[in-house]
Amino acid sequence: MSLPEWRNQLKGSLRTAAEIARTFDLDLDEVKRIARQFKIQITPYYASLIKRKGDPIWRQIVPDPAELDTESGAMDPLAEDEDSPVPSIVHRYPDRCLFLVSHMCASYCRFCTRKRKVGDSSKIHPRHIEEGIDYIGAHPEIRDVIVSGGDPLMLSDWRLESILSKLRAIPHVEILRIGTRIPCVLPQRVTPELAAMFKKYHPLFINVHFNHPDEITEESGRALGLLADAGIPLGNQTVLLKGVNDDPETMKRLMQKLLTVRVRPYYIYQADYVQGSEHLRTSVGKGLEVLQGLRGWTSGLAVPYFVIDAPGGGGKIPLIPNYVESYDDKRVVLRNYAGETFVYPQPKDREKERDGEKGRRDRIRRRRPSIEPCLDVAPPV
Ligand SMILES: *Cc1c(COP(=O)(O)O)cnc(C)c1O
Ligand code: SF4
Repeated sequence: MSLPEWRNQLKGSLRTAAEIARTFDLDLDEVKRIARQFKIQITPYYASLIKRKGDPIWRQIVPDPAELDTESGAMDPLAEDEDSPVPSIVHRYPDRCLFLVSHMCASYCRFCTRKRKVGDSSKIHPRHIEEGIDYIGAHPEIRDVIVSGGDPLMLSDWRLESILSKLRAIPHVEILRIGTRIPCVLPQRVTPELAAMFKKYHPLFINVHFNHPDEITEESGRALGLLADAGIPLGNQTVLLKGVNDDPETMKRLMQKLLTVRVRPYYIYQADYVQGSEHLRTSVGKGLEVLQGLRGWTSGLAVPYFVIDAPGGGGKIPLIPNYVESYDDKRVVLRNYAGETFVYPQPKDREKERDGEKGRRDRIRRRRPSIEPCLDVAPPV
């Protein structure tokens, strides 16, 4: 019997140091040194999107000697291991958790936050899955489970269904989410059978991961179409990467193209401070500039949140370009997307509002700092 196309893609993936060095004309010893640190693998499909040396696809996936720089970055920049009650769970927020079910990816991104874990079956192992399900079952506050990894879609349909059905059987789990890069790097994996299986476990959301407009092809469009037709709301998470998407025009095109394949941009991440990816990080100001190039200039649907996942485990923190020029009890001076200034008069009875009953006053006080610091969050970029 012939293998399905996605299995062929995986079988034919570039993975040995010799193959990688030969294909991309790199120094073999260097590739070997990188491979000892961080897993390397590229599907023939994703490799075929490379047009020339050092282009945005290349930069994401072809190993670079700069990865051997150990001076900057952390192995676990988000301190996920500290919020990990059992090996397969990261439980940081009050009502939701990550559930890591696969150590494998179809292609390994050079900037991956979980570089320390992906590709290592001892760190994310099938025996940890039952433990994870038990943990979620024992924690009634968890109403949202984000199935992640590695890439969950590297599991067989059967294994994936066994996980989803067990999660669905837990009464307090309201929604399921899957985070996957498969539609971008191995779209052949998304079959009508897989989509039909997912359909049984609604409400199910999928967040995909595209970083450049050239990744949206006929093949990936077909995969996303199958998922969308199965009624799955699709979101996208993009990592802001130097030389890949760190200019407003490229990012705008990516966000617009995502909408054409029925994917709603969800997050743009500032690149994590992860060891071996210093050459791909940008300044935070660049991210704000990119965001400013979206809001107002294109559909609001194409404008995601820009977040920094705080080093040390603080979680995701949104950053918004500064549209408030000044702010007091009488008026708020605002700048629109095109740089023009507008004034919004505050209500006259604002004094009275502040003299109201105590609880209300406390609420207002507590709210004020969340407005005022945004005055100096970001210099106009
Ligand atoms: C990103 C993340 C989530 C999900 O966050 P949302 O903002 O709800 O998408 C949950 N847990 C951890 C540990 C995360 O890093
Ligand atoms: S697909 Fe995701 S988990 Fe896998 S290497 Fe890329 S960023 Fe990391």
